[in-house]
Amino acid sequence: MSTATVVGAGPNGLAAAVALARAGLRVTVLEAADTIGGGTRSGEAIVPGLLHDLCSAIHPMAVGSSFYDELGLERYGLRWAWPEIDCVHPLDGGTAGVLHRSVTATAAGLGADGRTWRALFEGPSAAYATFGDDIMGPLLRLPRHPIRLARFGVPALAPASLLAKAFRTEEARGLWGGVAAHAFHPLERPLTASIGLGVVTAGHCYGWAVAEGGSRRITDAMAALLRELGGTTETGERVRSPAQLPHADVTLWDVAPTALADILGDLLPPRTARAYRRYRYGPGAFKVDFAVEGGVPWRAEAARRSGMVHVGGTYAEIAAAERDIHAGRMPRRPFVLVGQQYLADPSRSAGDVHPVWSYAHVPNGYTGDAAAAIAAQIERFAPGFRDRVIGTAVRTTPGFAEYDPNYVGGNIMTGATDIPQLLLGTHLTLQPYDTGVPGHYLCSAATPPGAGAHGMCGAHAAARALRRLRA
Ligand SMILES: Cc1cc2nc3c(=O)[nH]c(=O)nc-3n(C[C@H](O)[C@H](O)[C@H](O)COP(=O)(O)OP(=O)(O)OC[C@H]3O[C@@H](n4cnc5c(N)ncnc54)[C@H](O)[C@@H]3O)c2cc1C
Repeated sequence: MSTATVVGAGPNGLAAAVALARAGLRVTVLEAADTIGGGTRSGEAIVPGLLHDLCSAIHPMAVGSSFYDELGLERYGLRWAWPEIDCVHPLDGGTAGVLHRSVTATAAGLGADGRTWRALFEGPSAAYATFGDDIMGPLLRLPRHPIRLARFGVPALAPASLLAKAFRTEEARGLWGGVAAHAFHPLERPLTASIGLGVVTAGHCYGWAVAEGGSRRITDAMAALLRELGGTTETGERVRSPAQLPHADVTLWDVAPTALADILGDLLPPRTARAYRRYRYGPGAFKVDFAVEGGVPWRAEAARRSGMVHVGGTYAEIAAAERDIHAGRMPRRPFVLVGQQYLADPSRSAGDVHPVWSYAHVPNGYTGDAAAAIAAQIERFAPGFRDRVIGTAVRTTPGFAEYDPNYVGGNIMTGATDIPQLLLGTHLTLQPYDTGVPGHYLCSAATPPGAGAHGMCGAHAAARALRRLRA
């Protein structure tokens, strides 16, 4: 029987482990932390009985993941739940841009900009289910749906700022700016529209779902399937050198490229070693979880029914804040994402006390305290919010790097989303999962298709490892 070791039990490591175990390999997973899950962990952080997502929250890409679909993870306890509204972008006057799962409902709420929203997103959203697999894998390969992909791809090449100019109302411009800011990159740069387009179209196709019982259910389900297939997981095992590895035919690494350069050292061919060492990380995250009595008193009524609220003001404000963090400056008013997953999954609340998730975009390695700025941004659109807060839990930017070594400088995307890395991953190669060391593959979110709890990097890396093993 062939054997495999997977280093790291994030969604990509576990997806790789399950794919290898299903192919008949005996798989061992080694995880540095005391619990599995990486960016999908959830737990009590403030008040007993109140469940917080410690990292990821909203999962349109995981719902649409063809690999999860193939695994039938619902049999292992994964169930999705959808809030009434996907995302709201409030503005100072009490108005808001509102993103519904339905393109028609979204367009209807955007007044003069409804027609433009439809023109930009209706076609790609309707086709997403068929061409989604083309963008959820390496780009340097033949797409299965070239025409549909090209229709999606042309506007995606643009900077987000160009698409913003297509809208006339602040509500639509703000809504677009908030989703485009998921790129963690200045919105004037080419290709930044691609992340916003991906977020909007995946959302219109699958909805901004949350996992019932917390995001941890995604990796708990894969771990249960792995156990059933005979695989084992050892926690508290941080791998720092190849000498720590058990003998295996293949080893997959759910780690940051710079970390892998340190671990494999001279074993790596010089070209790959250079690429991994030069790998760039983008801005960081500063997270505050709140326990809020009675929920957040948003001025915009739709925000009280929405799973996610983007707090950053106008498009111009968000664009300026993203420019600042990219240049290493902490803005006075950062862009903040506020998650209200309990609206879709009430089991996370304790009576009338609700878990509210938030994080701000901050410079990479930011050592200051952004907690007051986050609370002030929420209070700006929800007067009275601070009076309802009965407890908080903070994870600083260095705290993220400590919590999960893949988040270098607090960069939760495992890499900067600049043009070369967005298109190619670590470097120009037809085989982005190969490390150049026989039997060793990189499978973290630094590889295509990039960040998100969809498991597709792990699934593609495992498929590559299996092809090589059989050859
Ligand atoms: C605050 C936050 C919010 C997010 N929001 C969302 C969201 O809403 N939706 C979404 O889809 N995605 C979101 N993400 C991103 C998503 O969580 C990540 O992209 C995803 O988890 C990446 O999966 P991964 O398996 O590549 O890496 P990770 O999930 O980071 O897992 C890597 C694992 O490997 C372990 N490890 C690393 N090095 C070693 C080593 N040397 N030895 C042993 N173990 C090691 C780590 O401890 C970790 O458990 C968010 C992330 C964060 C932090």
